[in-house]
Amino acid sequence: MSIIPSVLALAALLALHFWWRGKLRRERSAQRAELARITQSEHDANAGALARQNAIFDSMIEGVLVLDENGLVSFANRTFAEMFATVGILRGKALLETVRSHEIAELAARARVEGRVLGHELKLPGEPERWLQINASAVTAVDRRRLGTILVFHDLTRLKQLEATRQEFVANVSHELRTPLAMIKGYTETLLGGAKDDSATAAKFLQTVERHADRLTLLIEDLLTISSLESGQIKLNLQPVALGPVVEKVFADLKPRADAKGVKLLNQLPPLVVTADANRLHQVLSNLVDNAIKYGRVAGSVLVAGRPSDGSAEISVQDDGPGIPVEALERVFERFYRVDKARSREQGGTGLGLSIVKHIVQAHGGKVWARSEPGRGATFLFTLPCSGGL
Ligand code: ADP
Repeated sequence: MSIIPSVLALAALLALHFWWRGKLRRERSAQRAELARITQSEHDANAGALARQNAIFDSMIEGVLVLDENGLVSFANRTFAEMFATVGILRGKALLETVRSHEIAELAARARVEGRVLGHELKLPGEPERWLQINASAVTAVDRRRLGTILVFHDLTRLKQLEATRQEFVANVSHELRTPLAMIKGYTETLLGGAKDDSATAAKFLQTVERHADRLTLLIEDLLTISSLESGQIKLNLQPVALGPVVEKVFADLKPRADAKGVKLLNQLPPLVVTADANRLHQVLSNLVDNAIKYGRVAGSVLVAGRPSDGSAEISVQDDGPGIPVEALERVFERFYRVDKARSREQGGTGLGLSIVKHIVQAHGGKVWARSEPGRGATFLFTLPCSGGL
């Protein structure tokens, strides 16, 4: 009988053992599952952070390049790849292989050694001309260990172009001002030197002085107009303007000049009403008709015509003079550009008239262009928003 409790005790022990093993196994497998879940979520979090970081770097307008402690590329953003027209994977490549510039490689090496931000301006080889500002800096860990180098590339091309345009403009203005001033000074000195005592010579010289003073005034007026148009200071007083009367007013103002050259002024505009600043519109038409008289032929004709076109009015000013060479058709709208410098000066031109026309038309939301068949006259066309017909 005493064997029964022992068997029962053994069975209970065995049951307890198996229950305990099962429990342990279940717990271990739950732990393994939990570990796998944590690892996966860490991995997901890292991948998400990396994707976010890449998206931020890729949306920057600056190029970014990160080098590891061995000087090999560990990261490059999209702008960098576009700036240097790189193809394929950059990770792991040497810097020189990526940028092909010893200047950049030297800058990166110096930044790594000196441990401060270094700046450098660089003109990239090849055409079109491109300029970069590069800032390089060492990347350092919290324990001051060097992790690598970061280079940030800013595109300076537009800034350089603006700087060059400004310098060219200043040089042009100085040149334009110097000529009439030199004439005024020269004639004044001659007058003071004795010519003033001969009244006929004195009158002739004074007329020349007056002509050059007028030229200076004209030039300065045009320069002020250009500068206020470019800085956006001029506010357009937009309202419906009937084109016909504006053209008639321009013709009346310029009739003496046209008559002196035997030029006929013809107005063939249909009734058109545009949305414009009446004074600025007068200035546009006045510059174009004045040019047509100046550069057209003696005893020729100047025709102003127009038509509605896609919700705009297209206005043309046509002459039958020698015209404009094809290669100059776009350039005539540049400041101080003249096809024939001597001819323009002799006609009292400042070289700014068409540039003013372009600014005014564009400020109205229109466009302006020229057509010409050399020897068969020139036509200047511009569009303005249309308010309808009369
Ligand atoms: P400018 O004061 O010299 O007339 P513009 O800007 O008005 O300056 O014109 C620029 C140049 O375009 C002129 O110097 C001239 O060479 C050319 N041009 C303008 N209009 C005409 C035209 N109707 N026929 C031929 N050439 C023209």
